[in-house]
Amino acid sequence: MAELFTQPEDLAALRRPLTPEQADKLPHLHRLLLGYYGTPPERKPWDPLTQLIYSLLSGRTKTPASHQVMRELERAFPGAGPGHWEPVRDAPVAELERAIQIVTFPEQKAPRLKALLEQISVRTGALSLDFLHRYRTEKIRDWLEQFEGVGAQVSAAVVNFSTLRRRALCVDANHLRVIQRLCVVPRADAATTEERLMRLVPETWDAEMLDQHHSLVKIHAQTLCSFEQPKCEPCPLLKLCPTGERNLAELKLR
Ligand code: SF4
Repeated sequence: MAELFTQPEDLAALRRPLTPEQADKLPHLHRLLLGYYGTPPERKPWDPLTQLIYSLLSGRTKTPASHQVMRELERAFPGAGPGHWEPVRDAPVAELERAIQIVTFPEQKAPRLKALLEQISVRTGALSLDFLHRYRTEKIRDWLEQFEGVGAQVSAAVVNFSTLRRRALCVDANHLRVIQRLCVVPRADAATTEERLMRLVPETWDAEMLDQHHSLVKIHAQTLCSFEQPKCEPCPLLKLCPTGERNLAELKLR
């Protein structure tokens, strides 16, 4: 987190107040998505450790499979579940890998998850992240990002979606794709994009609102703005989207 906004243009941008048009960029996007998809289902937040496990396993995996794998963990390791992940930590990697077959890269995620749970136990003396409630948001994210496989996307998900409920925007692959196609901020990696987007987030948006915003963008990414073939014609964001205009112009030329 500390290395973001080190480019001179970023530092200059940080000092400049937003124009009314810039300030309305994300609210406008949000209103259009809300009008098209309706209010996303409300999240029932997990404790921070359960959210961390989910976020680690769900990378590059469809949402239904990500939810399914949490049920698989509880089924494969009796006694495992929110607040009690010791049976998963203590399981052999091969069994863990079998239990999470439904997600992408289980051979990488299984040893990483086991190592993460073991390291948390050693460092904190217990398998729980509830102590993070006492930390400032930046400190929580730095603490989480010290572990292998935990980057800005996962730490943002943990602080925003879990019972920590802090302000952060989880820019996952879906979110990044939509934002880049819309050219909302200059193209960059997910962590820098989050920093730039957060500058456009109204101060009145609390953690729940940021969660809803992320959910709407994700629904859009998985419905119309898909990776392979975005459906631009019916898209509620078409008038704002240089990529959509280009796609439709190319279609007309064929
Ligand atoms: S117009 Fe096309 S590329 Fe742009 S946001 Fe909509 S679906 Fe995605």
